[in-house]
Amino acid sequence: MLYKKVTAPATKSIALVAHDNMKPVLLGWAQKYKDKLSKHNLYATGTTGTVLAKQANLDVAALISGPLGGDQQIGALITEQKIDMMIFFWDPLEAQPHDPDVKALLRLAAVWNIPVAANESTADLLINSTLFDTEYEKSIPDYDAYMAARTK
Ligand code: PGA
Repeated sequence: MLYKKVTAPATKSIALVAHDNMKPVLLGWAQKYKDKLSKHNLYATGTTGTVLAKQANLDVAALISGPLGGDQQIGALITEQKIDMMIFFWDPLEAQPHDPDVKALLRLAAVWNIPVAANESTADLLINSTLFDTEYEKSIPDYDAYMAARTK
């Protein structure tokens, strides 16, 4: 795979997702960092987004609920380079009916070099990074080069 450099923006588009048992953890974290988070563009799966909007008063674009396709929607946004960071508190102690979607989302986040926090400690480190509110350079797959090589 060939890669190219792109600049991640200072104002980020952030996907927020939490499985049911993890929603209180994400809510508490989002309330703690509400001032920082509210300066960015927030996306969330349906139920997570509703919890964050109602209980943390955050302006969140809510997608479809995760088990009904919301994880796939976030994956598609990542592929279109419309998401710069993901906070995804998945549940390590309970099987999910949409486990294939969870796996697909995490795979796409890895492909597109998206910073992902799977737990509160990592989310703390991400949001307190100097890069959280500034531009930074990162590598992503060079799609044009990929297609040129495949269609020679
Ligand atoms: P939800 O989806 O926010 O609609 O609960 C989260 C998920 O299970 O991926």
